[in-house]
Amino acid sequence: MRHNWQSGDTSMANQSIIETRRYQMFPTLLPEEIERVRRFGELRSFAPGEALARVGELGPGLMIILSGKVDVFQTHGGERSLIVTHQTGSFMGELAQLGGRPALVDAIATEPVEVIVIPPAQLRALLIAEAELGERIMRALILRRMGLLETGAGGPIIVGRADNGDVLRLENFLSRNGHPHQRLDPETDSCGKVLIEKFSVLPDELPIVVCPNGKVLRNPTETELARCVGLISPLDPDQIHDVVVVGAGPAGLATAVYAASEGLSVLVLDCRAFGGQAGASARIENYLGFPTGVSGMALMGRAYNQAIKFGADIVIPCEAQSFETPTAERPFQLRLASEERVSARTVVLACGVRYRRLDVPNLSEFEMTSVHYWASPLEANLCARQEVALVGAGNSAGQATVYLASRAKKVWLLARGGSLEATMSRYLVDRIRGLSNVDVLTNAEVTGLEGSNGRLEAIRWRQNGVDERCELRHLFLFIGADPNTNWLRNSGLTLDDKGFVLTGANGNGSGPKTLETNIAGVFAIGDVRSGSIKRVAASVGEGAQVVAALHSYLADLAPTGIARA
Ligand SMILES: Cc1cc2nc3c(=O)[nH]c(=O)nc-3n(C[C@H](O)[C@H](O)[C@H](O)COP(=O)(O)OP(=O)(O)OC[C@H]3O[C@@H](n4cnc5c(N)ncnc54)[C@H](O)[C@@H]3O)c2cc1C
Repeated sequence: MRHNWQSGDTSMANQSIIETRRYQMFPTLLPEEIERVRRFGELRSFAPGEALARVGELGPGLMIILSGKVDVFQTHGGERSLIVTHQTGSFMGELAQLGGRPALVDAIATEPVEVIVIPPAQLRALLIAEAELGERIMRALILRRMGLLETGAGGPIIVGRADNGDVLRLENFLSRNGHPHQRLDPETDSCGKVLIEKFSVLPDELPIVVCPNGKVLRNPTETELARCVGLISPLDPDQIHDVVVVGAGPAGLATAVYAASEGLSVLVLDCRAFGGQAGASARIENYLGFPTGVSGMALMGRAYNQAIKFGADIVIPCEAQSFETPTAERPFQLRLASEERVSARTVVLACGVRYRRLDVPNLSEFEMTSVHYWASPLEANLCARQEVALVGAGNSAGQATVYLASRAKKVWLLARGGSLEATMSRYLVDRIRGLSNVDVLTNAEVTGLEGSNGRLEAIRWRQNGVDERCELRHLFLFIGADPNTNWLRNSGLTLDDKGFVLTGANGNGSGPKTLETNIAGVFAIGDVRSGSIKRVAASVGEGAQVVAALHSYLADLAPTGIARA
């Protein structure tokens, strides 16, 4: 079944987005609209046969066709196919052009072509200055990316088995960051086999990743992969950002949208993916304005694109490891896992929480393959028509149970307490009760995991003093979370007894800026903040609210822009 990345929609499941939304994907601009946007770009000509874009190469920006024709091709499964022929009034580009990233398609002039080239920064200015036209262009860019995500065209090719832990890790990284990719299983796919032979890959070097620029990576880290496909490039240590936001969950993305739209220079860092926990939620039903619910990925994908549109710079993956407070000579310095550093006038901590792990000795053996901390379509596909177990009794456990029950043969829901009602919203409890393939086991605790070579074969649990065993391949854990503040332990920040960051009167005693920590210029928002409401809406609200505090702090800075006046 096709899953709509941005809307979460699974209707019209077997039709491609090009078939269902073609007229919105490839609109034609009117001559007077083209005249209005001329000022954002410059003229350029291409001869027949010349490339306007090549997969894996950085292009000059969005191109509006003034005359001539351009064929746009995607490459999928080794085959090149025509997506569209652009002609006078249409424009060439997708989300890569908005963020200044390498192209995901090839585009070739079939006649003499004249275009207006609009570079990424100018494109963002156009989208803001021309609201109605901007909306049409933005929608087309998003839909074009969704089309590429459906086929995986233009992205890297991962060669490895679908259930291999490192394949899952790399696929998860690319899917969560809205980047197309394809996977070939070397055991069943002849192209996969050919690639393994061509590059003389040893079994323990799998998976390999073939990047669009031809480079081959052997079981890369997410950072190596992101570099190779052009998702990240070196950071400038001398550029001083008005604000560096650590974390691109709902709180961090809200800060990015409001701060960037109000003219601040914003750098957002996230060590994993945009969307944080919310991005991993199969369906958020209580977010204002979405009466039918919305998938976390759809909501967060929109927020991410909105932040990019306003000019926020978002770097993923990028882990902040420590920060130093300003001196008379220099502003805040954040040190990163990549050994780079970035400079900022203010810092917003939006680094959320991390999932709690189960206390069984061999858990880590199965974590990349059979033990999961979220239930996205990727995990749901892995356990389709199988029995699975899920541990937890909060709302996230409830949502995941409902979602998995629609794909799995049976879900065993194990809760430590005596009832779900004490910890889960009523609507979820009722929905779970109505599902015939969910068995709720209360007063139950997992006592052991069995399996070999990283593959789970059975789990053991104790319920009311009685030991049970069940053969199954997938276990989902939704047992709460701890704050992501280990990296802040020696920073001088005041944390509460559970490690959450204290703010406001609790933090610095002076109280006027409720989201400010005990260190002036450092703010904490969302789940990582002590006493915050752990909800998407609350995190978004704090992300918006903190921007007023940033303005007021920045207004008090000395003319050097470094130390507080
Ligand atoms: C499965 C699930 C379902 C949920 N469903 C709902 C729901 O239906 N309704 C609702 O209101 N809430 C729901 N929640 C809760 C909601 O998602 C969170 O309250 C919200 O995401 C918190 O947002 P945040 O931005 O503060 O933190 P997070 O979402 O935790 O984001 C923090 C980000 O910071 C990054 N990060 C951490 N440390 C670093 C570092 N050192 N350097 C760089 N980056 C770092 C992380 O990678 C992460 O992306 C759900 C949560 C889960 C797990």
